[in-house]
Amino acid sequence: MDRSGRASTPLTGRSFWQRHGGAPAAGAEMDAGVRPVAPANADFAVIGGGLAGLSSALALADAEPGARIVLLEASFIGFGASGRNAGLLSPLPAPLWLASAASNPEHLWGLAHLNRRALEIAEWLKAEAPESGAAAKTLRLEAQGYFTGMGLSRVVRLIDRAGIEVRRANGPRGNVAFDLDTHAVDPYRTVVALAGIARRRGITVLEHQPVRAVEETASGVNVVLDGGRTLGARAAIVCTNAYSGSVTLPEKPGAKVVYNFMVATDPVSEEQLGRPGAADRFAIELNTSYVFYRMHQGRVVYGGIERFKPYGDSDFNVPPDVLSGLGKLLAQSFPGAPPRPAEAWGGVYHQTSTDLPIIRRSGASGAIVLNVGYGGTGVAMTQICGRIAAALVPGGRFVNPDDERLLAALTSSRVPVGALARFVAGVATDVLTLRRPG
Ligand SMILES: Cc1cc2nc3c(=O)[nH]c(=O)nc-3n(C[C@H](O)[C@H](O)[C@H](O)COP(=O)(O)OP(=O)(O)OC[C@H]3O[C@@H](n4cnc5c(N)ncnc54)[C@H](O)[C@@H]3O)c2cc1C
Repeated sequence: MDRSGRASTPLTGRSFWQRHGGAPAAGAEMDAGVRPVAPANADFAVIGGGLAGLSSALALADAEPGARIVLLEASFIGFGASGRNAGLLSPLPAPLWLASAASNPEHLWGLAHLNRRALEIAEWLKAEAPESGAAAKTLRLEAQGYFTGMGLSRVVRLIDRAGIEVRRANGPRGNVAFDLDTHAVDPYRTVVALAGIARRRGITVLEHQPVRAVEETASGVNVVLDGGRTLGARAAIVCTNAYSGSVTLPEKPGAKVVYNFMVATDPVSEEQLGRPGAADRFAIELNTSYVFYRMHQGRVVYGGIERFKPYGDSDFNVPPDVLSGLGKLLAQSFPGAPPRPAEAWGGVYHQTSTDLPIIRRSGASGAIVLNVGYGGTGVAMTQICGRIAAALVPGGRFVNPDDERLLAALTSSRVPVGALARFVAGVATDVLTLRRPG
């Protein structure tokens, strides 16, 4: 109960998507007697049953039909960020390139390429995994202040240069806003659907199988499971995201753990919210705080606020200040929204300094491939990059030259200090010369 005597927002130990999709409560253990036993050998092991792990496993199956592939998930499929996110298949999945593409033609190509691939993946999901709920939405980028309006206008000029269609829109308070074509999914149902596809394609998908270590051997890798059992394979792709600290690897991936939070309201109509057309949009509000929201089956699913430390014993937990902060922001975005969210949950992602993933061979033999660090835009990016991870295993190859080009562009990305300085200077000039955003 809170001080007013009303029940506090329930924290269910599951995300809204996981609860509606029938996921087990976090921490629910499978009886050891019924837990399937991992085989002693395979061609490839994939560690982690999130979007990155499933995309990698499916890409391995495409690259080497008949290969014995085992995916090992410590908890349940979709336990991590993949089952807790906002479900945006972002048409701009490499935000950093919005700055560096101004001076780097490969990043400009990358922006256009990722946008095209994100749309292809949405179409693939609609056809192959309709349970994912993949549906067209408009991505609305909305500036809340004058400076962010100027900044957003500059970003939009670059999006336009990349050949991505972007349209001027009217923000609710006459603020600067732009619309892009995009898609959104139900994230938990998407990752479960991908696991179903993987199983039907002969991939062994095992839950409740925490991996303790991946060691290099003369013939490949030894995957050490809980209890000391091992699985030998030619190669392993590690897709453990922010939980990578749970696995002993020859080398730790360099990314930090970021906690991000979401709330969902009770059902509410567009009229009550005073936002006609809201159900067809995924919106990102840009101001001193960065918030994102969408409507799903009449509820507002609203996210934002980052933390760099865990709160309590579970990464599902939402610290009280974050919960009240998100409630206040929600009331600003939707003055007609219910006064308190109906449920709230947290999730973690693994963020590199560039927000671009780490996809590379690791260790002395290269039999361990890291595929982690997707930050806040992993829904589309994990699906685009599975083919890259699969091409990096020993004996693997790039079938599509664009994948190799994309990897080179990702690898060549550094924080573009010069480009960012020019960007800030450009915004300042726009403000000083009172150039109207447009
Ligand atoms: C609140 C929130 C909102 C977000 N919104 C969006 C969005 O709208 N759009 C977008 O593009 N991105 C979004 N993201 C980011 C996106 O969710 C992630 O980038 C993406 O899900 C990463 O997928 P993954 O497979 O790498 O990680 P995860 O889904 O975390 O999967 C890693 C898996 O590895 C398993 N694992 C870990 N250690 C071991 C081990 N030792 N042995 C076996 N298994 C192990 C975990 O249990 C987990 O299931 C959001 C993230 C959060 C937290």
